[in-house]
Amino acid sequence: MASIEAHNVCKTYPSRDGDVVALDNVSLKVTDSEFVSILGPSGCGKSTLLRILDGLTKADSGTLLMDGRPIERPTQERGFVFQSFNLFPWRTVRGNIEFGMEIKGVPKSERHSVAQRLVELVGLTGFERKYPHELSGGMQQRVGIARALAIDPAVLLMDEPFGALDAQTREDMQDELLRVWAAARKTVLFVTHSIEEAIYLSDRVLIMTPRPGRILADIHVPFTRPRSESHRTLPEFSALRHDIHSRLKAVR
Ligand code: ADP
Repeated sequence: MASIEAHNVCKTYPSRDGDVVALDNVSLKVTDSEFVSILGPSGCGKSTLLRILDGLTKADSGTLLMDGRPIERPTQERGFVFQSFNLFPWRTVRGNIEFGMEIKGVPKSERHSVAQRLVELVGLTGFERKYPHELSGGMQQRVGIARALAIDPAVLLMDEPFGALDAQTREDMQDELLRVWAAARKTVLFVTHSIEEAIYLSDRVLIMTPRPGRILADIHVPFTRPRSESHRTLPEFSALRHDIHSRLKAVR
């Protein structure tokens, strides 16, 4: 069981042109095995909020909790997936996936078997010995996801993980992620600026607005699971997309 929550989180970045209020009294809760997306335009504080929830960035004020315990620093209870993949270029696919387990002191044979299972789970069988530069963007991000899952975190924090991918690869990766999520039953908080992506993946969509960064709405996504391409063509899907689009437009 894993839940993650933020209460009244504030964060301001000082700058030469005046302070930037990145987050103004932001509160949210993601419950066990829930898939929640944070949607909003660039610069509204999505990354900052995610990094604060992981402990990578300090909040100025507010409370961060995982399963009711304070979040103080990144730990292996949470896996973070970056937009820019952030793989180690000098490590193979398997070496990247095994990194967190090495830090944790997991014995070699167990590391290998966990890595092999994850390689299969994310569809990279046969690429174990390749280096990141030998892989496409989509494949590199599969490694990023496998690496985050390898430490068996209860919570997965994903910061626009598919933002750098072309449209088709992006849709394939969304399906891949939903398959992995269904198999591993993680609690997921997923940052995106794609309305369609947020609806397709999530149980709930939180809409953020910029300057100051605030959560404007918390929207339940009513579609059944497993999700499939046919959901994207439902009239209700379009209606929800339009609704979210107009809410975002209204506050720009
Ligand atoms: P998003 O992920 O929604 O694009 P960010 O959390 O990256 O938003 O940024 C929110 C605001 O805070 C932006 O105005 C950005 O320029 C500013 N910001 C983010 N990180 C820093 C930083 N390290 N130093 C100064 N300003 C920052």
